[in-house]
Amino acid sequence: MTDASDAPEPTSNTTADRLLSVQGIDTEADQLANRRERLVEREQLEAASAQLATWERERTAMRNRMDELTGVIERTEAESAEIAEHKVRLEAQMKTVIAPREAEALMHEMATLDEQVDTLDTAELEALEEQSVLDDRLTAHLSSEEGLRDSVSVADAALERATGEIDREIERLGGERGAARDELSDGVLARYDRVRTSSGVAVAKLVGHRCDGCHLDLSAAEIDDVKDEAASSDGVADCPNCGRMLAL
Ligand SMILES: [Zn+2]
Repeated sequence: MTDASDAPEPTSNTTADRLLSVQGIDTEADQLANRRERLVEREQLEAASAQLATWERERTAMRNRMDELTGVIERTEAESAEIAEHKVRLEAQMKTVIAPREAEALMHEMATLDEQVDTLDTAELEALEEQSVLDDRLTAHLSSEEGLRDSVSVADAALERATGEIDREIERLGGERGAARDELSDGVLARYDRVRTSSGVAVAKLVGHRCDGCHLDLSAAEIDDVKDEAASSDGVADCPNCGRMLAL
């Protein structure tokens, strides 16, 4: 036990020192976790993945349109074929017709069928033309797939490398943290963890008359109190203003 009367200047390995060292490790681990989330490699992977997703959506849209156009072509061809058959029947009928009025009606019907075929032909031609243009576009589009997929895997590997390095560092700190915490009592650790959870920083230093956690000055009487408290508890007191553990 330290003699309270002439103690105040803590040397190494006091509770205060150990707490500061645990806090230093925790802060470093927090910074690493933060850096891990904000890696430029993560942004690059997100950008490359977004580009690939856009590319895939465009490919799907083009393929869907190609299918639609194929449908149009098939439908117009089938309808034209039906109309052609109908017209063959009308032509056969025409040969047997005697009454001029009936012949005229048939002629009119056949002309209507011809118009319908023209309309269908035009629609088919338009679909074929669009398909041909789209086919070229799709071929060009597909040629960029490999490059985009490569970019994603390169970015993915880079992110894995970067996070791997940080994870190894965090693991190393975890070991250090465990060893540093082993040096402290359960009561002190429980208090440290509690204050850290509520205030972010659990241990502050007394700099002159000021707590560097809350940046408030302590009165002369408070200074005397925390010095007494620190002397009897291995260099640690409570900041009367913010409740942080005050290392003296
Ligand atoms: Zn304070």
